[in-house]
Amino acid sequence: MTVAYITHPSSTQHEMGAHHPECPDRVRVIDDLLRVQGLVDFMREETAPAATRKVILRAHSAALLDEIDAISPQQGYAGIDGDTTMNPFTMSAASHAVGAAVRAVDLVCTGEVQRAFCNTRPPGHHAERNRAMGFCFLNSAAIAVLHALEEHGLQRVALVDFDVHHGNGSEDILVEACNAGRVLMVSTFQHHLYPGTGDQPMSANTVNVPLAAYSKGDAMRDAVTNDWLPALNAFKPELIVISAGFDAHRDDDLASLGWVEADYRWLTQQLVAVANLYSKGRIVSTLEGGYALGALARSVGEHVKVLIGAD
Ligand SMILES: [Zn+2]
Repeated sequence: MTVAYITHPSSTQHEMGAHHPECPDRVRVIDDLLRVQGLVDFMREETAPAATRKVILRAHSAALLDEIDAISPQQGYAGIDGDTTMNPFTMSAASHAVGAAVRAVDLVCTGEVQRAFCNTRPPGHHAERNRAMGFCFLNSAAIAVLHALEEHGLQRVALVDFDVHHGNGSEDILVEACNAGRVLMVSTFQHHLYPGTGDQPMSANTVNVPLAAYSKGDAMRDAVTNDWLPALNAFKPELIVISAGFDAHRDDDLASLGWVEADYRWLTQQLVAVANLYSKGRIVSTLEGGYALGALARSVGEHVKVLIGAD
């Protein structure tokens, strides 16, 4: 089995100011751990291409792209919202993060690799069709899902989002595909945490499980067992795309859940089992949140070990 590891140098050039938690070191510590543990030796390394305007426009409006272009600074910073800021490299990084996810879909759909992990930033799952927000500019995971449907002709793609924040942007972009029965979204998130959405799913093909603040991995495991797996087994996805956020970890200061590394390992094992049953094993995982650097790297390490079959 081959698993792709897709990165791009622009992921460390986009930054939103000193002390911002969504920082370039996030991808650096992940890359370091995957190499130190020898996991990259078992993967096919690729450099992400830039995304084409065509693939981005499947998910976002031209008006949003024009708005972002107009704001994008030549030097210094430009603010999108209170905690989302652009520097001169932001749109290159966002474009290559999308490009990584799209390349990953191409690789798994053509059978060149079975799975892929994209170690890229900025994250994407808060970016809506018409709005950049919450550290996110372009929604890489939603674009990957639409690319699999429209470019590769898949009929059913599952988007799994285990970031601690609700993926409002992905729900917004994929609501029509969910209603058409071509996308199933399953997610967990901390109840009433940013951005405060998700209690009322936009589509019947969306399984949102809010988790109580201070709950631990056992609550997530119950949600996966009782809510996600029955929906995934009924849907029989041909591909699983993961919005892989690691900010539900107990060390993460942006939220108040208590997951540990073993929870990410167990969760990934469940998804691999579903993929092996229905999806020819195909999984595309793209990095979302996760801000406690040590915990982030270790949790991604457990996730990737399972993806490459080394657990
Ligand atoms: Zn998050």
